[in-house]
Amino acid sequence: MTLPRIKVLALGGTIATRPDASGAMQMGLGADDLVAAVPALATLAAIDAETVSKVGSHSLGFDHLHALATKIAALDVDGVIVTQGTDTLEETAFLLDLLLDRDIPVIVTAAMRNPALTSPDGPGNLLAAVRVACDPWVRAHARALGVMAVMLDEVYAASDVLKVHPTRLNAFAAPQTGPLAALVEDRVVPLALPVREAITAAHARLAASAGGKAAPVALCWFGLDEPGFMIEALVDHPDRLGYRGAVLGAMGGGHVPERVVPLVERLAALLPTVVSPRAGGGPMLRQTYGGPSSEIALRKAGLIWGGRLHPLKARVLLETCLRAGLSRDIIAEVFDAFG
Ligand code: ASP
Repeated sequence: MTLPRIKVLALGGTIATRPDASGAMQMGLGADDLVAAVPALATLAAIDAETVSKVGSHSLGFDHLHALATKIAALDVDGVIVTQGTDTLEETAFLLDLLLDRDIPVIVTAAMRNPALTSPDGPGNLLAAVRVACDPWVRAHARALGVMAVMLDEVYAASDVLKVHPTRLNAFAAPQTGPLAALVEDRVVPLALPVREAITAAHARLAASAGGKAAPVALCWFGLDEPGFMIEALVDHPDRLGYRGAVLGAMGGGHVPERVVPLVERLAALLPTVVSPRAGGGPMLRQTYGGPSSEIALRKAGLIWGGRLHPLKARVLLETCLRAGLSRDIIAEVFDAFG
């Protein structure tokens, strides 16, 4: 029997650390080391391992991920596993999902517990990721599943997975939708297919304009009694700050404190500005509340409605749209499809 050909691309992260002389964990392991630590992989797949970088995911950039997507798009394999740090996995997986449209499984995995600890989770997560990539149901539905994250024996859609805890082992979840599949014994148990119309529509818009220059997006989170000084800086000094767009982590169904509304409106007139729920995703309101700080007023004032996307994912989508040179109206249309 021919085994599926799986490419493992290692970026770095806790999964790839080893202790230095002081005992502090430093980046050090490459893709070959990660694969060699899990002999059972050889029974599942013909693995080809490549070290792309040895950096913590908190230091990855959009340019790294665009280069990675270009590499993945050109691979002649049956599945791809990306290993990286957990800190930005919820963003990098979504960016890859926006940039790739392949009919093979593409899976991102990582580790919460480093290799020097008792029971590190990296080897188990890598084995699970390869098992998922080789699974017949996953392979048959690869395009419909999109890019996936595999952590602690669960499979998540890239658009929905969130890091929900900074340190514990079960740090990942998809609170709005739940997992796509679970690993039990040596089986992958399918649970759901993701709803991907909005991502497919985004692909159509983004594909026509691949490449492009970095387009920094400011992320402003609204807390109780936010005075709006950061927004003020954005509207008063747009050239000095260099942001090309903004995401507002808004309250409730899409609200901001009334005192900042004039600033937010000026910002929306200056830069594509997306309103996204600080509650962590989930569809927002469109036509319930009245008054100057309501969703009705903000939408009328030209704020782009971020739909069900978490603010971090909205920021990734906005950067990708701006980098691709999409107009404000097309960007609004791309976001609108997210509900
Ligand atoms: N700071 C690390 C990283 O994201 C943490 C981890 O991998 O869990 O690279």
